[in-house]
Amino acid sequence: MNTTTIVRAACPHDCPDTCAIRVTVENGRAVKVQGDPDHPPTHGALCTKVSRYPERTYHPERVLHPLRRVGRKGEGRFERISWDAALGEIAARLQAIAARDPQAIVPYSYAGTMGLLQGEAMAGRFFHRLGASLLDRTICSSAGGDALVATYGGKVGMHLEFYAESRLILIWGSNSIASNLHFWTYAQAAKRAGAKLVCIDPRRTETADKCHQHIALLPGTDGALALGMMHELIVHDWLDADYIERHTDGWPALRARALEWPPERTAAVCGITADEVRGLARDYGTTQPAAIRLNYGMQRVRGGGNAARLVAILPCLTGAWRHRAGGMLLSASGWFKSHRNDAALQRPDLLAGRAVRTINMSTIGDDLLRESSPAFGPRIEALIVYNSNPVAVAPESKKVVAGFAREDLYTVVLEHFMTDTADHADIVLPATTQLEHLDVHTSYGHTYAMLNQPAIAPLGEAKPNTQVFRELAARMGFAEACFRDDDETLARAAFGPAVPWDQLRERGWVKLPIPDAPFADGGFPSASGRCQIDAPGLGVPDHVPNHESAQSAPALARRYPLAMISPPARNFLNSTFVNVQSLRDVEAEPLLEMHAGDAAARGIADGQRVRVVNDRGSYLCVARVSERARPGVVNGLGIWWRKLGLEGTNVNEVTHQKLTDLGRAPAFYDCLVEVRPEGAAAARA
Ligand code: SF4
Repeated sequence: MNTTTIVRAACPHDCPDTCAIRVTVENGRAVKVQGDPDHPPTHGALCTKVSRYPERTYHPERVLHPLRRVGRKGEGRFERISWDAALGEIAARLQAIAARDPQAIVPYSYAGTMGLLQGEAMAGRFFHRLGASLLDRTICSSAGGDALVATYGGKVGMHLEFYAESRLILIWGSNSIASNLHFWTYAQAAKRAGAKLVCIDPRRTETADKCHQHIALLPGTDGALALGMMHELIVHDWLDADYIERHTDGWPALRARALEWPPERTAAVCGITADEVRGLARDYGTTQPAAIRLNYGMQRVRGGGNAARLVAILPCLTGAWRHRAGGMLLSASGWFKSHRNDAALQRPDLLAGRAVRTINMSTIGDDLLRESSPAFGPRIEALIVYNSNPVAVAPESKKVVAGFAREDLYTVVLEHFMTDTADHADIVLPATTQLEHLDVHTSYGHTYAMLNQPAIAPLGEAKPNTQVFRELAARMGFAEACFRDDDETLARAAFGPAVPWDQLRERGWVKLPIPDAPFADGGFPSASGRCQIDAPGLGVPDHVPNHESAQSAPALARRYPLAMISPPARNFLNSTFVNVQSLRDVEAEPLLEMHAGDAAARGIADGQRVRVVNDRGSYLCVARVSERARPGVVNGLGIWWRKLGLEGTNVNEVTHQKLTDLGRAPAFYDCLVEVRPEGAAAARA
């Protein structure tokens, strides 16, 4: 008898939208995924990428059995082994290392799934009990996240839904159509109702195309632009003095600093016109309600933390927070903080008082190549990678690859596919996808807690991450009862009383109780309840020039005069989906967008292969001469798997491991390069 069921799921990917999904399952096979029309932020729509989820799940190249490497690291030659053999070998290797120093073992994970269970629940317990190094998960958002915490006291912001009522929306550092689609729906509603949309982004994105105005500033100058706006707010008295007085600390010092940023200076630093600065400030200072949708692109530069602080202060100066359709959203994840039980899931108490070091995931290239030292601690002897593909996504590939290629490094990778990282593993373990396991989710773009029910049985011999760490714990002799918790027990423990399990199970989501205009009368989650313009320990924010710019490194800028940013290609999500053929077919080849003037000056034609170079490496890709690039800036669209790109490289060949001012994050978009033609131009598809 044929059976068709609809299962409630949630999108696991590193995207602010955290969509509610309905999975159609026919005879045990997932045949369709659709956005849930009843979930307000999702409103029935999924992005193109996740609409292809069945194609990804049943991909013929899924890893469905444990594998042991038989070739050289990186070569990709493996043999099938049993789970018993795989877990036995891993446990024996980890025990031997742990007997010397468990800190020589490093977990490496990020947001391959954002699920609380398949992320750090059982894995956290395992590594805490082991006494392994901790991992500082900085690769994407920690500069901006720390900026919000410094300014507001938490990663909090506007409700997504109320952007529809805004009269002015600044879409700042965000290609919403590609990477925050459900926000864009609300922005379009606002536009239809007469709101003005302004896109602030070095790249002329698909989103910029559809806004009323695009301000194409130079990468890393967002803080200067915010200061220039403040200058105009001050001199034209577009300030809400009452809100500033009652709900902020430290304005006089920042006011003095902002007065040093007249439009002409701001324009010169940002690479835009003084009239653009004046017009933007006028719009922002004279329109209510005015909302900012900041996204993480702008904080991937040296001064990203300061810049995010400066932007976050703007709605406090104009009193935009008084309105439910005014204020700002960079991340909503802090709203969940008091409702999630991370300690119950991850059990840091299992460290039992041991002080262990922390490895920054963003400097894994350098750290894998370090010897033991009193400052660093033991050389890294083992890496357990899950929910991440560092060989493709970590900065400065040459060092990352050299580190992963170390023959004395023992590497285990939990994966769906043979990624660049899996190619370097000693053991690859088959992981379930979101359709095959239970999970619960928060969101960083809305305020609904979400449930993901398994829709189908695990394919092949794949296991949920929770189960892998449960079984590894047993092999290691970890006798604590918490290692026997099943996934439903973990899911029930994940949230506090504001997210009742029964409601979550029945409907698939629970909205957090947050006022419509949460800071209309102050009440920020900082210690003082006020916006901390002068943040404890940080002082007043300032524009911080890039590590690599004509201003901070003039000799370098003469050799490498182009600033490169590396935003995601529209059909990829970080490095996920690059191996889904129908999506890769759309992207075709790794592209570098160049302005016509920069291309002509180098004798580069559209469609021609080009080499992007700097002192760190060389990346082969295809030039797309396009108005999407402003003069002086090239856009290297990512993040291709190295082995699926040209010449086995990707854009991270030229990025570096220098960190941001806050959050110890990589400054991916703070990167000087030169571009050289390579061969003749090919016909454009
Ligand atoms: S828009 Fe974002 S959350 Fe929604 S399905 Fe796509 S990747 Fe997932």
